[in-house]
Amino acid sequence: MNLTEIKGQSSLSVKNPALLEFRKVEKTYRLGNQSIKALKGINLSIEHGEFLAIAGPSGSGKSTLLNLVSLIDAPTSGSVRYNDVNVGSFTDKAITAFRNRKIGIVFQNYNLIPVLSAEENVAFALQVQNISYKNSLNKARAILNEVGLGGHLRHRPANLSGGQQQRVAIARALVTSPEIVVADEPTSALDTKTGMEIIDLMQKLNETKKTTFVFSTHDPRVIKRVNYVVNLEDGRIVNESN
Ligand code: ADP
Repeated sequence: MNLTEIKGQSSLSVKNPALLEFRKVEKTYRLGNQSIKALKGINLSIEHGEFLAIAGPSGSGKSTLLNLVSLIDAPTSGSVRYNDVNVGSFTDKAITAFRNRKIGIVFQNYNLIPVLSAEENVAFALQVQNISYKNSLNKARAILNEVGLGGHLRHRPANLSGGQQQRVAIARALVTSPEIVVADEPTSALDTKTGMEIIDLMQKLNETKKTTFVFSTHDPRVIKRVNYVVNLEDGRIVNESN
C-alpha cells in the first residue's frame, strides 16, 4: 500500500479527538483520618469550541471538577486526556507549561494583582511566558479593548467595578490565546445585569475566537444561556443536556 492510499484511509476513519476527555475520574480529599469523595466516577467529553456550564448545588463537586479541568489538581483515580494525551503522565513542570499555554483561568473573586493596572495585570500573563514587556503590553491593550475596557487601561483594580474587574480577569485569561477558558462561578459576585453582560461577553468571545469555555454556576438564568449543561449531584453527573 502506498502512502497516498494510507493517507486516504486514515482521513476516512480517524475522528478528531475531543479537546478533553474524563474517564472514570474520582477525587477523594483526605482530612486527617476522614476521607471525602468529591467526585465519584466522572465520564465526560468536552468538544473543541464548546460553551459549557457545570451546574449543581453547593458541595456537588463543581469546583473540584473545574480544578481537574484546569490541571490545578489531579484526580485520585481515572484519566484526564487533552487532545488524546493523558496528562496524568506529565511531570509538574510539564503541567505548568501546558497550563500556561493552553488554559486560561478566571477566578471567582478575579484574583487581580492590586498594585498593577488593568493593562499590567493582563500583560503579566504573557511576561511569565518570556514575552517582552512592550509586546505583552500591546497585546494586553488590544484584548482589553475587545472586552470593552479600552478606556480603563491604567486603572488599578480598586478603581474598577466588580464587572470591570471580571472583564480584566477574562482578558488576562484570553491574552495567551488558550484553547480553553475555565471559570469558577464567574457571575456569582456580580449583580444580575452585570452577570448577564459577562455571559454575553464570554459567548461573543467563544463565537469569534472559537475558544472553548467551561464554567460552573448554580444560576438558572446563566444555565439558560449555554449550549451544553452538565448537572452534578453528590459527585456524580446526573444528566447532560443541550
Ligand atoms: P461545589 O463547587 O459544587 O460547591 P466542591 O467541589 O467545592 O463543590 O466540593 C465538593 C465536596 O468536596 C464538598 O463536600 C466539599 O466539602 C469537599 N471539598 C472540597 N475541597 C476540599 C478540600 N480541599 N479538602 C477537603 N474537602 C474538600
